[in-house]
Amino acid sequence: MKMNCAVITVGDELLSGRITDVNSPYITRELEAMGLDTAFHISVGDDPENIQAVLRFALEQCRAVIITGGLGPTQDDLTREAVAEGLGLKLIFREKIADLIRQRFQWMNREMAESNLKQAYIVEGAGTIDPVMGTAPGLILKLPAGKLVAMLPGVPAEMREMLGRGVLPALHDMGDRGPVRLRKSFKILGSTESEVAERVEKSLSGMGGLKLAYLASLSGIEVRVTAVAEDEIEAQARLAAAERRIRDELKMMVAASDSQGIEDVVGELLRQRGMTLALAESCTGGLVGEMVTRVPGSSDYFVGSVVSYSNRAKQELLGVSEEILATAGAVSSEAADAMARGARRAFGSDLAISITGIAGPGGGTPDKPVGTVFIGLAAEGVGAVRKLMLPLGREAVRSISATLALALIRVYLLGGDFAHFGE
Ligand code: ATP
Ligand code: MG
Repeated sequence: MKMNCAVITVGDELLSGRITDVNSPYITRELEAMGLDTAFHISVGDDPENIQAVLRFALEQCRAVIITGGLGPTQDDLTREAVAEGLGLKLIFREKIADLIRQRFQWMNREMAESNLKQAYIVEGAGTIDPVMGTAPGLILKLPAGKLVAMLPGVPAEMREMLGRGVLPALHDMGDRGPVRLRKSFKILGSTESEVAERVEKSLSGMGGLKLAYLASLSGIEVRVTAVAEDEIEAQARLAAAERRIRDELKMMVAASDSQGIEDVVGELLRQRGMTLALAESCTGGLVGEMVTRVPGSSDYFVGSVVSYSNRAKQELLGVSEEILATAGAVSSEAADAMARGARRAFGSDLAISITGIAGPGGGTPDKPVGTVFIGLAAEGVGAVRKLMLPLGREAVRSISATLALALIRVYLLGGDFAHFGE
C-alpha cells in the first residue's frame, strides 16, 4: 500500500486564532511533490494528553507522522515529553547536543539559561537533525512496525530547513511512494476565467498525466498545472511540454509564473531596458505605486507617482487642461492621456502610466457606469489609452485596474499589441 502521512502541529496559539498554521500546507506540498499522500492535518494545543491522543490516532492510520512545534526550551514546549510518554519511551540526555547548544550561545555571546538544556534530551532511539538556525534539534524516530515519527521545531523557517534536510530523505528511503507530481502555475492577465479554461484545455488536448486547476482572484487568473508521472524526469518533461503549449496558446496573456507577480516581471523588464517609470494615479490612490515598490531594488527604475485624486491636483500637478476636465471629464480617455504625459514630463521618466476611473459605489452615470476605467501610457513617441469596463465592487475595480496597468506596461515593453486590454 502507498505510504500515507499525517501532519500534527502543536501550539495553543494555533488554536486561539492568533497565528495561522503555515507548516501543514507547506509539508503537504512537499510530500505531494514526492508522491506521498497526506491523510490529515491536526492542530493540537500544548497539552500532553491531547498530543498523545492525536499521535496515537495518527499512528493507527498512517505510516509517517510529522509533528511541528513545542520542541523549544520553555515550559509550554511539551512535544518531546508527550511523544516519549505516549510511546512508552524514555528521554535520554545527549551530552553532544548539550555541547552544541552551549556553543550556540557562546557564538551569540549570550548567557544560556539552564532551561535550554531541556533540548538536549532526545526520545530513546531517535535520530537527530542538527539545528542550523535555532537551538532545538529535530528528531526522527523509526518505530518497529515500519512507522516513522518526525518532530520538528515550530518556527516555519527552521521547520522547512530541517524537513528538507532530514525528514524528506528519510521518507524517501521508506519507499512505497506513489507517482511523482510536479507543479507550475501561470498568471493570466487580460482574459476571463472561462475563456482561459477553454483555451488551456484545447491547447493541452491529447496530453495525458496532467491535472488543471484555476483560481481567479483580484490579481488575475492563475492556472495551475500538475504533471503526474512515474518518475521525476518524465514529470518534468510533461510539465515543460504543457508550459510550451499554454504559452503558445495564450501568448502575451501569460504575464507571470509561479510565485512571481506582475510587478516583478515589469521590474525585470524595466531594469533590462534601463528605463524609468512614473505614475499618475487617481481611482487607485497609489495602489500601483505600492505594487511597484514591493519589489526590492525598484528604486533603480521607479521615479515617483502623483496621486492626483482631485481635479485641481490633475490640473496643477499634471497639467491636465481645464478644457479637458470641463468637456471630456476627469474620467475620460483625454484625461488619462494628459495625466500620463503630465507624469512623464513632471518626473522626466522614459515611461508613464496613468489611471483614472469610477471605482464606485457612487459616481456612475449612464454613459460612464461604475467600473469605467481609463489607463494611459506615455513614452517617447507613444500615447495610448485603454478603456476597461469592470462591473465589480470598489475593491475589485481598484485592484484589477492596478494589476492591468502593470500588465499594459509589460505588453508595451515586449512590443505586443494592446488589443487584449479593453477598448
Ligand atoms: P522554539 O525553539 O523557537 O521555541 P518550538 O519548536 O518550541 O521552537 P513553538 O514554540 O511551538 O516552536 O513555536 C515557535 C514559533 O513558531 C512561535 O512564534 C509560533 O507562533 C511559530 N509557529 C509554531 N508552529 C507554527 C505553525 N504551525 N505555523 C506557523 N507558525 C508556527
Ligand atoms: Mg517554543
